[in-house]
Amino acid sequence: MPGTVCRSATCPHLMLRYDLHSHSTRSDGLLSPHALVRRAARRAVDVLALTDHDNLSGLDEAREAARESGIRLIDGAELSVSWRDVTLHVLGLRVDPSCSRLVEGLTALRDGRSGRAQRIGDALAAAGIPGAYQGALKFVTSENLISRTHFARFLVESGYVRETRDAFKHYLAPGKPGYVAHDWVTLPQAVDWVHVAGGQAVLAHPGRYKLNGEGMRKLLAEFRDVGGDGIEVLSSSHTAAQNDQFVRHARVFGLLASSGSDYHGPGESWVDLGDMPPLPAGTAPVWKDW
Ligand code: AMP
Ligand code: MN
Ligand code: MN
Ligand code: MN
Repeated sequence: MPGTVCRSATCPHLMLRYDLHSHSTRSDGLLSPHALVRRAARRAVDVLALTDHDNLSGLDEAREAARESGIRLIDGAELSVSWRDVTLHVLGLRVDPSCSRLVEGLTALRDGRSGRAQRIGDALAAAGIPGAYQGALKFVTSENLISRTHFARFLVESGYVRETRDAFKHYLAPGKPGYVAHDWVTLPQAVDWVHVAGGQAVLAHPGRYKLNGEGMRKLLAEFRDVGGDGIEVLSSSHTAAQNDQFVRHARVFGLLASSGSDYHGPGESWVDLGDMPPLPAGTAPVWKDW
C-alpha cells in the first residue's frame, strides 16, 4: 500500500513496521518463504525484505504469500563480499530479481560456496570430525546454497556442540579449526550488481565486523565512495550502544539508515521478525523515497 507509507522515521501515527533483513529455506533460514511471510504478517510487520544469502529464488513464493497476507514484500538478497581480509555482507534492497548481471553474479557466489564447503569438510576432518561435508549437505534446503550454518546444524546434531552458536565459537569462526578463507565478490562489484538491478546497497550488521574505529571509518568511507546507499544501523547483531554508534556513523557519512532482525527461524534467532526498535529521530531511513 504505497499510498499509506510513512516517509518519516519518527511519525508516531503512521509509522509502519519495517523488517528489512530475513532468511528463508532458500538460504540458511528454517522457514519456507511462504511461512516466513505469514509469520511476519502475524507479527504485524508491514514491510518485509526477504534477503537470502546470495540467492533470489525465494522471492516469487514470498511475493505471492505477501499478496495473500496483505503485507509489502521487498525483493532483496544478502551478498557475500570480501574486503581486505574481512568478509562483509551487503544487502541489496528493491532489486529486480530478473536482472541478469545480478542473477549471474549470485550464481557465481553460490558456485563458490560448494568448493568452500568441501574445504570446510576437509578442515574439520583434519580436526578429528569426519563426514562433515556429507553431514552438512543433509541440512541444505536450497540447491547449491550451502553455508556454515548447515555445518553448524550438523555439529549440533552429531553432538559436538550443544547449540549452533557454539559451533561457530569452537569450529567455524575465523581462527577456529573448521574455518577456511574464501574470496567472495569485491565491494565495488557487489554495489554495482545491486545498482544495475535497480536496488539500494546497504551494509549489513556493521557492528559484527572485527574492525577498530579507524578500520570502520575506512570501510564506511570506501562503501560510500563506491556508491553504497545505507547501513543497517539497527540489527539484532548489535548492542544498544552499537545501534547508537551506527546511527551517528550514518549521519556523519551521509548514509541512509536501515533496520533488520536478520531472522533465521524459531530457536535460532534472539530477535523475532519485526522486533527491532524504531529508528531514532533525525535519521534518514533507507525507505524515505519508497
Ligand atoms: P556463510 O555465509 O556460509 O559464511 O555463513 C554465515 C552465516 O552463519 C550467517 O549468515 C549466520 O547465519 C551464521 N553465523 C555466523 N556467525 C554466527 C554465530 N556466531 N552464531 C550463529 N550463527 C552465525
Ligand atoms: Mn545466515
Ligand atoms: Mn549477514
Ligand atoms: Mn543475514
